[in-house]
Amino acid sequence: MIPPRIGFMGLGIMGQAMAKNILKAGYNITVYNRNRLKTTEFLDLGADVAITPKELAKRTNIIFTMVTDIAAMRDIMEGPLGIFEAATSKLTLINMSTISPSYTKELSLNCLKKRIKFIDCPVSGSKLQAQEAKLILLAGGDKEEIEKNRKLLLTMGSSIVYAGKHPNATALKLCVNLIVSQLTSALCESSVLAETLEIDPELIFEVLNKSDALRCNYFNLKKQNILQKDYPPAFALKNMLKDLRFMIEESKIKKLRLPITECLEKLMLKSYNTGKANEDLTVIAETLKNYYKE
Ligand code: NAP
Repeated sequence: MIPPRIGFMGLGIMGQAMAKNILKAGYNITVYNRNRLKTTEFLDLGADVAITPKELAKRTNIIFTMVTDIAAMRDIMEGPLGIFEAATSKLTLINMSTISPSYTKELSLNCLKKRIKFIDCPVSGSKLQAQEAKLILLAGGDKEEIEKNRKLLLTMGSSIVYAGKHPNATALKLCVNLIVSQLTSALCESSVLAETLEIDPELIFEVLNKSDALRCNYFNLKKQNILQKDYPPAFALKNMLKDLRFMIEESKIKKLRLPITECLEKLMLKSYNTGKANEDLTVIAETLKNYYKE
């Protein structure tokens, strides 16, 4: 069998760790990143580098995309030097970026028109799970095509959850992120309340960790940020704000309101507007503390 030629686009916090895991598994890989500086270390690791998405598509037959949002996807897919310009029936596109269900539907139809096979495959897990190849892959689309790529997909994660037809995997991803956003705000708001009541916030984590009912790995992943008041990004605030907006937009289409999510969107926007877009989403603790000052 001819080994697949893999393309990976988007070497941000998640993408650079995921692409390295594909490389480590011995696959032949070509990377693309808008800011070329981020590709330098991949050259040293033995990957090829493409200068444009179109060039990457010409050199590969399975392409992963892991970019910020819909605008980024449009740029790399539909731009004059985009993937669609080099579309052939030999290409499979696997999108792992978190985008909206509506756009995922549009993308799947455009791929169909261009005869590109398409797998919708957002991921659950953050920077650490990406580095340790322990992401949970939420896969949607043709089951046979997903099975064909199972071994390759599992170079980045520990399991695959099949969600059904397009755009179900992306819809599932938003449902999971709704929980992540509210766990985060619960931790941050509780810590701010503790400080105000002159309780050491570390005691909250002690109680949660000692309780069989409340122990949760996610709490411990965010513990240092909250206690040290330092927010290096594992998941940037701007990306969760984007996801909250997708949840609100998609639920409005279906005539559903998400009042708590809407409230959280306002809080994250307030944080975003005070220059915290690129910090970890736990930075909302600072916005909560200074709510009436900022
Ligand atoms: P990130 O660090 O901000 O990286 C974003 C990537 O997208 C960079 O490679 C960036 O290129 C690229 N990009 C942005 N706009 C572009 C454009 N117009 N054209 C081409 N490339 C563009 O984000 P991340 O944390 O890796 O997240 C990537 C995606 O995964 C997002 O959809 C996010 O919501 C989702 N996600 C994140 C996490 C997490 O915990 N971090 C977990 C699960 C899913 P440059 O380097 O040139 O800016």
